[in-house]
Amino acid sequence: MSTSGRPPYDDANIFARILRGEIPCDRVAEDAHALAFHDINPQAPVHVLVIPKGRYVSSADFHATAPDAAIAGFWRMVAAVAKSQGLEEAGYRVLSNMGPDAGQEVPHFHVHIFGGRRLGRMIA
Ligand code: 5GP
Repeated sequence: MSTSGRPPYDDANIFARILRGEIPCDRVAEDAHALAFHDINPQAPVHVLVIPKGRYVSSADFHATAPDAAIAGFWRMVAAVAKSQGLEEAGYRVLSNMGPDAGQEVPHFHVHIFGGRRLGRMIA
């Protein structure tokens, strides 16, 4: 934890660099609150990442400290992306890896949207 009580944020992480436009991404949607783009290593026919604009390491960090409008905007984008990708009727999965035990690779809060095929059961 930093002195602010928030976990330290690494400005060099890959999603921070994508947000700054230093690294390209295959964009699906963007607004004032969030950015959605295709995962570089898709695990399903549709595999989109949604990230908030802001310096948030984890879900706890994001949901405890982001303005309510940013939190609402983020989750609205998740639903809108699923719809725009044609997943609403068949269904889809929203998943977020949190910390080392979950294998979180990129220390900027994000959710994965998976869909486009029948997904397997959740892995513990
Ligand atoms: P995590 O394990 O942190 O939940 O997942 C990070 C995801 O980011 C992985 O699915 C990985 O394929 C994706 N990823 C890593 N680097 C890049 C990148 O430079 N561009 C894109 N579009 N996705 C990335």
